[in-house]
Amino acid sequence: MTQRQPYLAGLIGTGVGPSLTPALHMAEGRAQGLEYVYRTLDLNVLGLSPEQVGEILTWSRRLGYDGLNITHPCKQLVVDHLDDIDDTARTLGAVNTVVFREGRAVGYNTDTTGFAHGFAEGLPDAATASVTLVGAGGAGTAVADALMRLGTAHLSIVDLDVDRASALARELADRHPDARVEASSFDKLSVLLPNTDGLVHATPTGMAEHPGVAFDTALLHSGMWVADIVYRPLDTALLQAARAAGCRTLDGGHMAVYQAVDAFALITGVAPDAARMSAHFRDLVS
Ligand code: NAD
Repeated sequence: MTQRQPYLAGLIGTGVGPSLTPALHMAEGRAQGLEYVYRTLDLNVLGLSPEQVGEILTWSRRLGYDGLNITHPCKQLVVDHLDDIDDTARTLGAVNTVVFREGRAVGYNTDTTGFAHGFAEGLPDAATASVTLVGAGGAGTAVADALMRLGTAHLSIVDLDVDRASALARELADRHPDARVEASSFDKLSVLLPNTDGLVHATPTGMAEHPGVAFDTALLHSGMWVADIVYRPLDTALLQAARAAGCRTLDGGHMAVYQAVDAFALITGVAPDAARMSAHFRDLVS
């Protein structure tokens, strides 16, 4: 019997050198008894432009890669270079995982499935009918889509970039005519939050290099949950304030782990142990 070649995967993007994803995938591969090599493919290091992502796909396939993760700034650019794309990723117009299967490049989005899986695990039974989303960038867009699948019927979207929030709200409202989706402004949070089931924060505020909280935490109350998707640090100033206000909370590690859990399953075809990947992730960031 011929033995399978080691699994080979990579992460394409700029500044991906410090990413925890290769370590997470390879440790889970080892624990599963798989030979699994996962490399960063940093565009800056390789001297390639984001527009060359199609060439990288072609060469990765020729060189025997099983799959790739795709991150900033290539998640949208890669869509035009796929043979097939799953429905969720197509709807979002963004792909963060490509699997080479039977000679075809197939795109998926495990940011959105990862948020949904992490939410279901970390805040089981949390009400999702009415949610406020702060941050309408790439990650916020993936989260918004996940929230609609989690049953959100009223979504309010706030972003410093009002046009961005409005565009996302319009696009979601078109796709979900039964839901109420609207862009709102920071000064409306005092009206929105008393009636919201929960809030998801998806701006860079709270990261080590952007400390602070994006809005006035005096508006938080014990009747709502708070999910932060920032995961460096895991315990952000927002989550600390939310706990102090009596809110149930979800840290950004859940989304980060489950995007990797879902990508590992797609790339290898092997079901990973999510609890083990989560424990490993928390070791790496602590
Ligand atoms: P992005 O640059 O695409 O979007 C950020 C958005 O936040 C922009 O629309 C910007 O206008 C808005 N913004 C910035 N500061 C704000 C503020 N103070 N108040 C309101 N809006 C503000 O970035 P992204 O890719 O969406 O990532 C956002 C953050 O999400 C990242 O910094 C990262 O910490 C986190 N993230 C986490 C995961 C995870 O798996 N947990 C995955 C992706 C991103």
